[in-house]
Amino acid sequence: MLAYKMCSSAPFPRASRQTKICVLYGLTHLCHSRCRLNHLDGLFFIFFHTLMPPIRTTKKKKMVYSFQEGKASMKDLLGGKGANVSEMTRLGIPVPPGFTITTEICASYNKLGQVFPNGLGKEIDIAVMRLEKEMKKKLGDPHDPLLVSVRSGAAVSMPGMMDTVLNLGLNDKSVIGLAQVSGNERFAWDSYRRFIQMFADVVLGVEHHFFEKELTKLKKRRHVQLDTELNAADLQRLVAIYKQIVKKHHKKDFPQDPRKQLHLSICAVFDSWMNPRAEYYRKMHNISGLAGTAVNVQAMVFGNLGDTSGTGVAFTRDPSTGEKKFFGEYLINAQGEDVVAGIRTPEPIAKLKKQMPHVYAQLETVYKKLEKHYRDMQDIEFTVQQGQLWLLQTRNGKRSARAAVRIAVDLVKEKMITQKEAILRVDPMSVEQLLHPTLDPKMPKDVIAKGLPASPGAAHGMVVFSADKAKKWKKEGKKVILVRKETSPEDIHGMHAAQGILTALGGMTSHAAVVARGMGKCCISGAQDITVEHKKKYFSTKSGAVVKEGEIITLNGSSGEVMLGRMETIEPRLDRDFTQLLRWADTHRTMKIRTNADTPKDVAMARSFGAEGIGLCRTEHMFFQPDRILAVRQMIVADSEEDRRIALKKLLPIQRNDFYKIFKAMKGFPVTIRLLDPPLHEFLPQKEKAVRELAKSLKISVSKLHTRMMALHECNPMMGHRGARLMITFPEIAEMQTQAIIEAALKLKKEGITIKPEIMIPLIGFMEEFYYLAKVVRRVATSCIVKSGKKLEYAVGTMIELPRACVRARKIARQAEFFSFGTNDLTQFSYGFSRDDAPKWVPQYVEEGILDGDPFSTLDQRGVGDLMKIGIERGRTDKKNLKIGICGEQGGDPASIIFCHSLGMDYVSCSPFRVPVARIAAAHAVLKEKAEKEI
Ligand code: ADP
Ligand code: MG
Ligand code: MG
Repeated sequence: MLAYKMCSSAPFPRASRQTKICVLYGLTHLCHSRCRLNHLDGLFFIFFHTLMPPIRTTKKKKMVYSFQEGKASMKDLLGGKGANVSEMTRLGIPVPPGFTITTEICASYNKLGQVFPNGLGKEIDIAVMRLEKEMKKKLGDPHDPLLVSVRSGAAVSMPGMMDTVLNLGLNDKSVIGLAQVSGNERFAWDSYRRFIQMFADVVLGVEHHFFEKELTKLKKRRHVQLDTELNAADLQRLVAIYKQIVKKHHKKDFPQDPRKQLHLSICAVFDSWMNPRAEYYRKMHNISGLAGTAVNVQAMVFGNLGDTSGTGVAFTRDPSTGEKKFFGEYLINAQGEDVVAGIRTPEPIAKLKKQMPHVYAQLETVYKKLEKHYRDMQDIEFTVQQGQLWLLQTRNGKRSARAAVRIAVDLVKEKMITQKEAILRVDPMSVEQLLHPTLDPKMPKDVIAKGLPASPGAAHGMVVFSADKAKKWKKEGKKVILVRKETSPEDIHGMHAAQGILTALGGMTSHAAVVARGMGKCCISGAQDITVEHKKKYFSTKSGAVVKEGEIITLNGSSGEVMLGRMETIEPRLDRDFTQLLRWADTHRTMKIRTNADTPKDVAMARSFGAEGIGLCRTEHMFFQPDRILAVRQMIVADSEEDRRIALKKLLPIQRNDFYKIFKAMKGFPVTIRLLDPPLHEFLPQKEKAVRELAKSLKISVSKLHTRMMALHECNPMMGHRGARLMITFPEIAEMQTQAIIEAALKLKKEGITIKPEIMIPLIGFMEEFYYLAKVVRRVATSCIVKSGKKLEYAVGTMIELPRACVRARKIARQAEFFSFGTNDLTQFSYGFSRDDAPKWVPQYVEEGILDGDPFSTLDQRGVGDLMKIGIERGRTDKKNLKIGICGEQGGDPASIIFCHSLGMDYVSCSPFRVPVARIAAAHAVLKEKAEKEI
C-alpha cells in the first residue's frame, strides 16, 4: 500500500531511489516491481519482462508454491494458513486451489525497500496461469472471470496485519459476465461491491466507514434491515457510489486491470508486515525471528450465491469448556467475515444439520478427519457454495485454560496423544485461573481504572477505606473491597475481611500483593489511575469516575481491571481432568514443589494443591495478627535487653503454637522457617491512636515513645537494620524463635509425628554473619533437645539474597545445610531497584525494550541468574549434596521454574495457588530438556 501510494502520488522524488536500485540489482529488478510500475499497464510489464530476462545473482529459491506442493510442516515458509490449506489439499479435503508466495519473499521485498525480488513477477504469472488452467477460467475474462482471494498469513497467527481481499478480478466488464454465467445478477453485484470496499480499505487506504455509511443510507431508503434484502439494482447503484468514494479519497479511479489489482494486493500484504500495528503486536507477544508474512492467492468459492450457500466458522470441540461437541456458527447467503462481523446474527451450527443435512454430514466427516490428523482441536473456516462444502482454513484452536486441560486429557483417553504431549499442551501459567473465581467473560463490563494484576481471581464488594471498617462490615455480613493508597501490616485484619484489595501504589511484590497472593485473594496494586482520599472516603479515577464508600465495585485481579458495579463470578473447581493432568506431571518432574505459607489455613490449602513442604514460612507475618502485634511492638521499642526479653517471653508461647499448627498441617513434610527478617519500621504503629495505645501498655509517655520511634527511624530501611543484622545485635530474637520452633517440633514428636524443621537465617552477606548466628541457633536448639530427652533432627541454612552471598557461597556452605534463593531481594539488590518503587520506571523500561520484562515477576536469567549459578556452583564445591531451592516470587513463574531446573535446584517454593502451576512447569522443564537432548 505504502509503495503504491508513493508511486502514484509522487513519482519524481523516488527516481533517485529507483536509480540506486537499478545499479545495485540490475534494471530487471525494477521491472519486476509491479507496485513501482503500477503506472504502466500490465501489457507493458509483460513486454518488458520477456525482453529482459532477470539477471540472477544468487541461486534461485522457489518463491511460489501451489497448494499441492506445500504441507503442514512448512509453516515457517508458507505461513500457518498456507501450510494448513496445503495440508488439507493433500488430505483430499475440498479446498479451492491456489498458491502461496513464501515468507522469505516478504523479507526480501522489505529488505529491498518494498521492491519485488528478481523473478517473482514471472513466478506469479506462471502460478496464475496454472490456476486459470485448473479452474478453466481466466483472470479478467469479461465473460467468465476467475476470481481470487488474497490472504495474508505468517507462521504465527497475528491480528493487526492485512485483512483479506475477496472477489479480486472483478471490474465493470467482468461483473456482467459473472452475472450471466452464474445466472444471478444480484450475486455478481454483491460480490463487486464487497470487492471494491475491501480493496479500497486494505490496499488503497480508503476507510471502511465511508462505504458503510452509504450502505446504511441505501438500506434506510429501501426500508430494509439486512444486506441480503437489497436487490441487484440496489447493489449496482451501490457499486457506482463506491467507485466515486474511491475516486474522491484516493484521487484515482478504482483499478480495473485484474493483474494490477493482484499485484497491488500482494504488495499491500507484504507492506502490512511492517505496519506499526503488526510490529506492536509482535513486540507485545515476544514474536521474533519470523521472516515475514506469506501471501495466499486462492480461487474464490461463493457463499453468497443464494439460499443453498453460506459461510461459517467452527471448533471441533467447545473452546471454553473443552467438551467434545462440534461448536460453531454459520450464515446463509453470506461471504467471508460476515459471521464474525456481527452484521447479521449467525445460526448455531447444530441448525445446519436440519437445514442442510447433506452439507452437515460432509462437514462432520471433514472435521473428524482434521482433528485426527492434527491430533488437536481445530478451528475451521468453511464456505458452502450451492450445497458443496469447501474448507478455507484450519488451525489448532485457541481455548480457555479449562478447555485446554480437558481436551489434553480427553485426547490421551482417545489415544490420539501421549501423556507427555498432554502435559506439554497445557500452558502452566494459564491453569492458575482454574483455582480462583473468574468473571463471566460474556458479561459486559464498565472498566473505570487499571492497575497491576497483583493477585489473580475476581471479587465484588462494597468499597471501604479502612481495615477496621472492612472488619466491621464483614461481621455485619457485607462483602467488602478494601481500597487503600497502599497497605501496611496494620491493615492485615482488613485484608482478611475483604473479598479483594485495591491499592493505588505499590508493585507486584509490594505488601498488598504478597499478602493477598498468600491469602489467595484477588488484588490489584499500583492502580495509578486512581486517587484515594481515605479521610473523605472516596476514590476518583483519571476517567472521571468518583466512587464513594459503600458503592460496589468488581476487581479482576487476573487482568488488573477495576469495574463499577457488581459482576458475577464463576467459582473454581479442581476437577477430575485437572487432577489427572497434575498426576501425570508429577511422574515426570524431578524438582519438589513447596509452598510459601505462614498460616495453618494456607498450609492446608497448599497441601490440597499438592505442595510437598514449606519453602518459606515468614515468621513476621504471624507478628501482624492483632493478638500479638502489641507484644511485637513492645519488643521493638524496648531500649534494653531486659525489656526486650520481657516482650519476647510473651511471644514465645504464641509462636510455638503457630509453628505447632503449621507442622501438624504439613504432616511430616519439610518446613523451612525464616527467622525475623523485615525492617523494624514495618511493625511500628503509624496511626496516632495506635501510638497512644502502645504508650499506655508500655507504661511510658507518648512523647517518650515518639522519641524511641524516632531513634528507630532509618533512611533506607530495606538496606537497614534487618535480617541477620538485627539478630546479631539482638540475638535474643533468634533465641526465642529457635526455641519456639524446636519445642513445637518436639511436642509433635511426642504425638507421633516427626518433622525436621529447617531454620533459615535471612539476609546473610558474610560467612561470619552466618557462622555467628548458626552458632546461636544450634546452641538453643541443642539445649531444648537435650532438655526434652528426645531426639530431633533439624537443619540450619540460609537465604541467599545478597549478591555478595552468591559470590561467597563456598565458604557460607561449609556451615549451612541448605540454601534458598530469596530472589525478590536478590533482584532488588542486583539491580539496585527498590522493589516498592520499581513500578515507577519498570513498565517504561519494558516498553522501550530496555528490559524484557519485570524481573520481579520473571527471573532475570542473565544477570540475577548468573549470580545464582555462581552461588550454586560454589555452594556445592565442597558440599555436593547441599540442598538448594528458591523461595522468591519468581518460584511460581513457569519460565523461572524451567530455569531453576536447569540450574540443578532441588525444589521451588511458591504461593499456594501457584503450586499446580509449578507442578506442570517442573514437568515441562524435564520434558523439554529431554526433547532438546534428542534433537
Ligand atoms: P483471517 O486471517 O482474518 O481469518 P482469511 O484469509 O482466513 O482471514 O479470510 C477470511 C475469510 O474470508 C475466510 O474465513 C473465508 O470465509 C473468506 N475467504 C477467504 N478466501 C476465500 C476464498 N478463496 N473463497 C471464499 N471465501 C474466502
Ligand atoms: Mg481466517
Ligand atoms: Mg528477603
